[in-house]
Amino acid sequence: MPETEKRVFIAGAGPVGLVAAASLARQGIPVTVFEASAELSTESRASTFHPPTLDMLGDIGVVDALIAQGLVAPTVQYRTRGGGPIAQFDFGDIADLTAHPYRLQSEQFKLTRIIADKFSSDDNLRIEFNRRVEGVTQDDSGVEVEIHEPDGSIERRRGLWLIGADGARSAVRKALDIPFSGFTWPERFLVVSTSFDFFEAFPDLSSVSYVADPRQWHFLLQVPGMWRVMFPIAVEVSDDEASSREFAVSTLGSLIPAAAEANILHTTLYRVHQRVADSFRKGRAFLAGDAAHINNPLGGMGMNGGVHDVVNLCGRLARVWRKEAPEAELDRYDLQRRLVTVEHVQRQTIENKRNLEASDPKDQEEFRVRMARTASEPAMAREYLQKISMMASLKRASELG
Ligand SMILES: Cc1cc2nc3c(=O)[nH]c(=O)nc-3n(C[C@H](O)[C@H](O)[C@H](O)COP(=O)(O)OP(=O)(O)OC[C@H]3O[C@@H](n4cnc5c(N)ncnc54)[C@H](O)[C@@H]3O)c2cc1C
Repeated sequence: MPETEKRVFIAGAGPVGLVAAASLARQGIPVTVFEASAELSTESRASTFHPPTLDMLGDIGVVDALIAQGLVAPTVQYRTRGGGPIAQFDFGDIADLTAHPYRLQSEQFKLTRIIADKFSSDDNLRIEFNRRVEGVTQDDSGVEVEIHEPDGSIERRRGLWLIGADGARSAVRKALDIPFSGFTWPERFLVVSTSFDFFEAFPDLSSVSYVADPRQWHFLLQVPGMWRVMFPIAVEVSDDEASSREFAVSTLGSLIPAAAEANILHTTLYRVHQRVADSFRKGRAFLAGDAAHINNPLGGMGMNGGVHDVVNLCGRLARVWRKEAPEAELDRYDLQRRLVTVEHVQRQTIENKRNLEASDPKDQEEFRVRMARTASEPAMAREYLQKISMMASLKRASELG
């Protein structure tokens, strides 16, 4: 058996793994992060940070740098295609509940870079690249991981605790034999990043706008220097066709002809799932972020929920580490975070999709009336803002004790 390193091991240097690492390191708890890739990912994925997530990133001292590289979106809007806005919500209405009353539009790779740079000389946060975690075994006093390197060599390392933040295909989850229950949507999603300025076409647009349409709902997100547009892609369109530049150009052009003339900066086609791990804890090992749950991107809740997971977990783990709480304290992580993932994140993201794609005129009308009324009544608007900013899910988690 390898010698036990008095450290917490984390699999995966994505946003969730690195927030966990920073959260523990700043409390003086030594962490080693094993990352399968040779460097931090620069993939274009999450670009929305909700108010409570920004508050949490403030607690680990990285929020100012992230805000400096992002775009502040004070409102969220719902529209119908061709029909204009039906409701707009202003995060200023919940400014008494958060230090960051807005959505921050900033790519997730900026967060991981900021954390890695900030802790680069802190021995409490080590990142080892080209180190893929595969096997996991454990006993009462530690967790042993099997580390695979690109040259085929395998090393066994033993730490005190393990956080599996190794993404949707989590090897940690598989090694722990935890089922990932749920389903996969038949349609794929296409994200097109374009230099076209949608304010030119829709001056009344918000930087975050969801557009309902039974044929092709979509949402428009402004990030620094570009807009990202997300569409569903019907099953009959092949991956090759949907990934082509021509397809992106014609799809954007079908929304606004002038958008077809603009530069396509990037496209991502991906399959979307709604899945939650049957448990977020097995002994001394935990799952967090996409390793624990995945959902559609309507509402921007995946990465945000992952950050909420590890802030919850690491607070408890730190108390157990310092012997201020018994190990049973860690069961609350599974109890709280798993339940709100199912009750709030999964439910809300599925509901968001159903609302935007509704094809029955009665459902469409009901959605329009409900959203307009919610936006116009201050108490309802405040409640809705807390729901979409994920504050309601955090409140529910804390009520679970
Ligand atoms: C197009 C798109 C748009 C999105 N938009 C949003 C949004 O606006 N808001 C939002 O909240 N969410 C959004 N999401 C979801 C968000 O990107 C994910 O929820 C987020 O990346 C999860 O972070 P993570 O750290 O759990 O996993 P990942 O980001 O997947 O990171 C996992 C890391 O683990 C590494 N790894 C994998 N396997 C191993 C292993 N065996 N050993 C060691 N390392 C390993 C990987 O290389 C990677 O670095 C979006 C997703 C997509 C695809």
